Amino acid sequence: MKKFIYSLCMIFISGFNINAQEDVISIPQPGHTNKNKFKQLYEEFSSPNRYRTASGAPGPDYYQQQVNYIMNIELDDKKTKLYGEETITYKNNSPDQLDYLWIQLDQNIRKKNAPALQKDGGVAEPFIAVEDFVADYIEGPFDGGFNINWVKTISGVPLEYTINNTMMRINLPKAIEPGEEYSFKIKWWYKINDHVKNRARSGYEYFPKDGNRAYVIAQFFPRMAVYNDVEGWQNHQFWGNGEFALNFGNYEINLTVPADHIVEATGDLKNPREVLTIQEYKRYKQAQNSFDKPIVIVTQEEVIAKEVNFSEKKKTWKYIANNVRDFAFASSRKFIWDMMAVKVGSRKVMAVSLYPKEGNPLWEEYSTVAVAQTLETYSKYTFNYPYPKAVSVHAKNQGMEYPMICWNYGRPDEDGKYSERVKYGMISVIIHEVGHNYFPMIVNSDERQWGWMDEGLDTFMQYLTEQEFGENFKQAISPLDKYPSRRGDPSKIVPYMAGNQENISAIMSNPENVFQLGPNAYAKPATALNILRETIMGRDLFDFAFKKYSQRWMFKHPTPEDFFRTMEDASAVDLDWFWRGWFYSTDYVDIGVKEVKKYIVSSNPGPEVDKYLSTNLNMSTEDLGPFYVFMVSKNLDSINLNKLSSNVINNSLPLKKYLDESYSSDQIAEINIPKYFYEIEFEKPGGLVMPLIVEYSYKDGTKEKKTYPVQIWRKNDNSVTKVLATNKELVGVKVDPDMETADIDISNNSWPKQKFSSDFEKFKSKIKG
Ligand SMILES: [Zn+2]
Repeated sequence: MKKFIYSLCMIFISGFNINAQEDVISIPQPGHTNKNKFKQLYEEFSSPNRYRTASGAPGPDYYQQQVNYIMNIELDDKKTKLYGEETITYKNNSPDQLDYLWIQLDQNIRKKNAPALQKDGGVAEPFIAVEDFVADYIEGPFDGGFNINWVKTISGVPLEYTINNTMMRINLPKAIEPGEEYSFKIKWWYKINDHVKNRARSGYEYFPKDGNRAYVIAQFFPRMAVYNDVEGWQNHQFWGNGEFALNFGNYEINLTVPADHIVEATGDLKNPREVLTIQEYKRYKQAQNSFDKPIVIVTQEEVIAKEVNFSEKKKTWKYIANNVRDFAFASSRKFIWDMMAVKVGSRKVMAVSLYPKEGNPLWEEYSTVAVAQTLETYSKYTFNYPYPKAVSVHAKNQGMEYPMICWNYGRPDEDGKYSERVKYGMISVIIHEVGHNYFPMIVNSDERQWGWMDEGLDTFMQYLTEQEFGENFKQAISPLDKYPSRRGDPSKIVPYMAGNQENISAIMSNPENVFQLGPNAYAKPATALNILRETIMGRDLFDFAFKKYSQRWMFKHPTPEDFFRTMEDASAVDLDWFWRGWFYSTDYVDIGVKEVKKYIVSSNPGPEVDKYLSTNLNMSTEDLGPFYVFMVSKNLDSINLNKLSSNVINNSLPLKKYLDESYSSDQIAEINIPKYFYEIEFEKPGGLVMPLIVEYSYKDGTKEKKTYPVQIWRKNDNSVTKVLATNKELVGVKVDPDMETADIDISNNSWPKQKFSSDFEKFKSKIKG
């Protein structure tokens, strides 16, 4: 009986909420499909199978192809040409017979007639920099595509091949069987471009003052395409934005350059004694045990002396790199070279920097320590860095990553002065590009298909690393107390998420087809992961699951589902709604507080309750029996808050009687009877569902933060009400008080409404004042 009464009481509360709704529907309505935001992602996800399990781990039949390269490369600095001869050994670990092989010829994007050069529309600019005008309308595109001398079997028999833009198919005389290995050779050359002029990721920078060039060379040799259980051959053309899908393998490289060049590359240098001077070699050995500061191997003074003599001799630098997905190198006589040892787990890793004097004094101060910090932080959250070194090379306007080596911008003015913006930009890009060793160099996702899987995860880790750099190098960021990260903080993504929907793509889009690659592949997924860690899952659950994903897919090829599934599998947090909203849609967060009603508990039902009972239940208050509690709403604006007190509860005889009969007097003495009741309506104009984070402020000056789970939106996507029973008088309600959800409109986040003046209004009032 008592239970019955209690439930009646609840009917009243909800009865007021739905009084506009009809219970009986007489007009037939059309049906609808399930658009619930908490619906599981069965339609979007591919089915789990023997290759990839439902838990997000590699399955029992998971395989990946192995591709080993032996290459002889020669850099002709005078003619700015690159020559190569390579032997590729392809191990078919798939269960399939392969009739042909696909090779990636990324340099063909630089052929004069490359379709990639015509992929965008253009307008006649009203003004244009003269060098751009000459490049666009007078010189025309640089002709830097591949020249393939030949493709041959290992015994020298020519192999038939077909080139389709950036892809080359080798027609095999006989299919490669599962488990079989096949070796063949390619000889090629191409003209190296000026990467500053062409805004390219590979090429040289020319220094007119001393006539030297600094080369950063990448995606420069014919590389095997990936064949796997997801795409078959990943032979989607290279258009410029969608980066690379590459196989793991072992590399043996002989790299011949002018004798006075200093080289860094993917892999272990096998012949330092042959290529370094006695002095350089001594410092090189010394650096291997310098854990506290970088040792300079080639100094600025030595470089300045070298810049005027162009050696006619050659030297061959020999590298071995195991279990890498690519090979890249940097070479110049302009390079200053420093390095230090970093302890990663039980191993030693070398943090290395290579930069022309134009990068100083910034580079000698911050590059190698930023590399060291990156290895430390990323290793903590993923796995211990497995390679012997990580190199940061300074190249103008570059920010590009390869295994063990990357190119980074950040150049002082000619007088050596630099702004804070240049300094933080340089440290951040180094952390980002070195961080790419983890995603996608080791956790080897398909960049050509999914830009966010490496850029988003890496930008998220970059944020954590920058913050740790700020902690460890306080004097470097002084007078700031926190490293000024450009991406990662929820408030920073608001302008993008609030922007014109016609120019926004879902994160789950191909990088070639998105409108704004930076926010799309970098900032939004990084922010989403940060929110997931801080607000949705909490650090413990998130960090365990993120590390599990990293370790499951270390040296393997994950897909988006493998990431999504692992994050849920390892945390027991249902995140389908999160992936659907943040990754598959362009919806945004906007949650607010719409209305606050105050209720009093009373023995007198009042006309509202009477009317409700008679119209909906055909009952009168007498029919309810002796035990009932009425909650009667009061318009907060029209009543004097001070006059309402706890008396109303004490006057509620049914409540008093119920308590007396149900509890002992000792228990009653300890019972906390709330004095105030509020019904708060929250609205959700934004499409994204998020936990409802609310800060209640009370008259005595205290505040209380409550988080209602995201599931609160599962049955009503537009608004939800909550009843707050409290001992204190409520004076304010604030949604997302710490701005942790990227709410795009905070004008509806507070009750009573707070006035926000736009920047323009502030500016206007300043001028007037
Ligand atoms: Zn990146």
